[in-house]
Amino acid sequence: MQHDKIFDLIELEHKRQLEGIELIASENFASPNVMKAAGSILTNKYAEGLPKRRYYGGCEVVDEIEQLCIERLCSLFGAEWANVQSHSGAQANAAVMLATLNPGDSILGFSLAHGGHLSHGSPVNLSGLYYDAHFYGVQQETGRIDMDDVARIAHTVRPKLLICGASAYSRDWDYARFREIADEVGALLLADVAHTAGLIATGQLNNPMPHCHIVTSTTHKTLRGPRGGIIMLGKDYPNPMGKTTKKGDIRKMSSVLDSGVFPGTQGGPLEHVIAAKAVAFEEALQPSFKEYTKHVIQNAQILSEALIDAGYDLVSGGTDNHLMLIDLSSKGITGKDAEALLGRADITANKNMVPFDTKSPFVTSGIRLGTAAVTTRGFAEKEMVQIASWIDRVLSQGDQEVEKVKKEVHALAQLFPLHA
Ligand SMILES: *Cc1c(COP(=O)(O)O)cnc(C)c1O
Repeated sequence: MQHDKIFDLIELEHKRQLEGIELIASENFASPNVMKAAGSILTNKYAEGLPKRRYYGGCEVVDEIEQLCIERLCSLFGAEWANVQSHSGAQANAAVMLATLNPGDSILGFSLAHGGHLSHGSPVNLSGLYYDAHFYGVQQETGRIDMDDVARIAHTVRPKLLICGASAYSRDWDYARFREIADEVGALLLADVAHTAGLIATGQLNNPMPHCHIVTSTTHKTLRGPRGGIIMLGKDYPNPMGKTTKKGDIRKMSSVLDSGVFPGTQGGPLEHVIAAKAVAFEEALQPSFKEYTKHVIQNAQILSEALIDAGYDLVSGGTDNHLMLIDLSSKGITGKDAEALLGRADITANKNMVPFDTKSPFVTSGIRLGTAAVTTRGFAEKEMVQIASWIDRVLSQGDQEVEKVKKEVHALAQLFPLHA
């Protein structure tokens, strides 16, 4: 058989991941066992439906796999119910909206321009095309969400679905207050914890489960699993119309959510990915994962303090989680140019709008950094301080430092495998 060039390219990508420093806040390095499950023969199996209720034969084994996956996820978050079939975080959100809303209903989410996600009502996403989307944001002076402002907007908009969660917000969320507001206006409350799931599961951040009607997430960011999405229900059981009722309605809500995933927005589930999710959840239940998430946050705090010491402005002045948003406005460099310069030194990060940005999303005034991936490699305080100094050298001195920093980056990365 002819050698396929794709495998050369995969090897090249492996080399890139090994040699460089990964600061993209939404990325991580899944374990060899997670990848083993994701690359397994389970990819051959069709299993439309749910465990024990499939539209295909031969599902005895995948039924057990998916059931275990659900059980592990529920124990990880203290959830009462979960669906593990969503192919991605955005699809989990689409499934929830399809299940709980009618076209044209109003939704209220965190502004994309302030750090929110496309799937929370952006006009280019189905959430903004099919629903009447409204947004809250951060305050300009503090860089933080002001809950009185959220309440004011919610009372004006009266959304059917209130959404909390973000892609570029470095502060924790007041889920209890969000719930009060949701109850005042009769909204269902959705927390999308795509970024922070691993930190929440190990108790490092506030837990949305006791407060939010529905929780969605990805599995590949701080949770360190395969690429994918999940949907969970917490301890109270709202019916599909958005009225919170007692226990009897759990089936109703869970079954509309199941239908929102399949057949609502997907066909057959990816049982190989579901197996990989199950492996990742088991890993996340171990004490070592809790240690890992503590280090993720410590590293983010060390990196943010070192950058502040070097004269950089951070939105909201720091971080509670794994990520930070640097506002480069005062540095005379755009997010786009910063991303490109750092990229040439093999430090990977992404340009990002900062709140009240005057530049376009293609240029931006900011850059987003996260510590989930480097912490998986075993980077600690010393390496964080080093990274801050490299970032400053590259951004303040440009071309002349890029090559030198790149050599230093390679020399350090060489000391760390992808999995510590
Ligand atoms: C990353 C992210 C998603 C989307 O996840 P995909 O798997 O890329 O579809 C959804 N919501 C939030 C808040 C995210 O940060």
